[in-house]
Amino acid sequence: MAAACVAAGRAAAAFYGDPPDATHPWAIHDENRPQPPRVVPGTFSTQEQPGQPPSDAIVLFDGTEASLAKWIADKSPEEPTKWVVKDGTFQCVPGAGYVRTKEEMGDMQLHIEWSAPAKVEGSSQGRGNSGIFPMGLVEVQVLDNYENPTYADGFAGSVYGVNPPMANPLNAPGTWQVCDIIFRRPLFDGDKEIDPGSLTVFINGVLVQQDTPLEGGGGHRGRTKPRPFPEKGPLKLQDHGNPVRYRNIWYRPLPKRAAEGGDTSVMSEAATAAKKAEIAASLREDAAGKAGKDQALRYLESLCYAPDDTAAAKAGAWLNSFIAEVQGLAADRQEAKKGDVMQVNNAVQYLVRHKFLPDTFAAKAALEGIIKERGWDKK
Ligand code: MG
Repeated sequence: MAAACVAAGRAAAAFYGDPPDATHPWAIHDENRPQPPRVVPGTFSTQEQPGQPPSDAIVLFDGTEASLAKWIADKSPEEPTKWVVKDGTFQCVPGAGYVRTKEEMGDMQLHIEWSAPAKVEGSSQGRGNSGIFPMGLVEVQVLDNYENPTYADGFAGSVYGVNPPMANPLNAPGTWQVCDIIFRRPLFDGDKEIDPGSLTVFINGVLVQQDTPLEGGGGHRGRTKPRPFPEKGPLKLQDHGNPVRYRNIWYRPLPKRAAEGGDTSVMSEAATAAKKAEIAASLREDAAGKAGKDQALRYLESLCYAPDDTAAAKAGAWLNSFIAEVQGLAADRQEAKKGDVMQVNNAVQYLVRHKFLPDTFAAKAALEGIIKERGWDKK
């Protein structure tokens, strides 16, 4: 059985787009590249009703009392949170302190909706203040900034103390604000920063942060230095003394980035070589279970990812016998083999053109000879 990195049962459309290279483990339009996993989409929220999360989301609050079990008081984790579920919403009780999830997560797509108190009280940072803290380490500010100015890097949708939002798309207090966050933690190699980490934030469908570097996480009054984050941490929500409500909280873990060895479009040379070797091995395993032309083509295909004398020799042996068979046929019966001849010739030409086979590969000249003789190159 072929390993998972080769798409099972799909017809090989190899020998087509630009081949794998030193930093791209897959060809352009590579049929061996894994299919994106199916996710059944959710539905969008309305003011009246929260939407449904997509099928692979991990739900942190769905409006039920049972959701409370997923949250604990930040300062005293052994105790249940004093925040309450009210009318299907998760509500901050002033003085109860921050809450955090029992579950810990790293890079994620986070969906969360909040509503500031309909009764307007206070101003600036005192009105409808809460906060969303991915990994508990950096705050996406929650604030009622509907007709309520404050310092820009403390606005709703700011990375608090780091970067103001690009816009203020808030609905009126008492209504729901729909927030989608893409969080990437900082990556370090020892003391060396590889990636500062970032936050991308949409509020009510409006982009307010795009790949904003975390600068260590920021905070109140103090500028922070870039620093490594752990692999995972809890999501925290802030008690800032205002009874802000939340609903429809879910997240999806994100795949690894290239710097973490993820299967991305462009990879390091070492990671690319390892991935190509893995794909080649899968193709050869798959080839071993095939016969005839299909087997030869699969072996040839494997050469695009990693050279292998045995695979080349096995394909070459079948090609030589196939060529001898075609040459032995009467001219009028050769026509029936035209499709196969053209197909394997295309493969050999591709591999020679991209230097995966030498120009002297025996089958190349023989196939060209048959095609020229029959005039198949002229149609
Ligand atoms: Mg806050």
